Amino acid sequence: MASSSPTKPSPTKVSKSATCLCGAVAVTVTGVDKGAVLCHCSNCQRSSGSSFAHNYRFLDADLTFDKGEDAVTRYEDGDTTNGNVLARHFCKVCGSNVFLQPSTPPRMWILHTGGMQDKTQPARELFTHNKHPWIGDVTPVRAKV
Ligand SMILES: [Zn+2]
Ligand SMILES: [Zn+2]
Repeated sequence: MASSSPTKPSPTKVSKSATCLCGAVAVTVTGVDKGAVLCHCSNCQRSSGSSFAHNYRFLDADLTFDKGEDAVTRYEDGDTTNGNVLARHFCKVCGSNVFLQPSTPPRMWILHTGGMQDKTQPARELFTHNKHPWIGDVTPVRAKV
């Protein structure tokens, strides 16, 4: 009697959206939820203009433009640790980093959480050898933005 191979349940896909600061660009990514990470690599520090990037990752994912496809430009970041090009996409109008796409499989899209409504707590940190030692050890000040 032939045994049938068990079918793996396909992972549930989720959709999350992000917009840039000026609102010209809005995208939605649908894919397998890989959660949020903090990336402390020097390229994310430079690209974000901040101390780290807070990135939400999706596997086997598709990205659709809700608006502003022609308002997006990209920088092919080839100076990466593994040598794989990472396409960093940002708004031509306001300069916000909106999303990233690694050039190599698996098919992944990454949203910068700063543009998302749901700023999910990161589960992991990457490139911690490059993390600023003072993060989390700074005195809060009440500021109005
Ligand atoms: Zn913008
Ligand atoms: Zn990084």
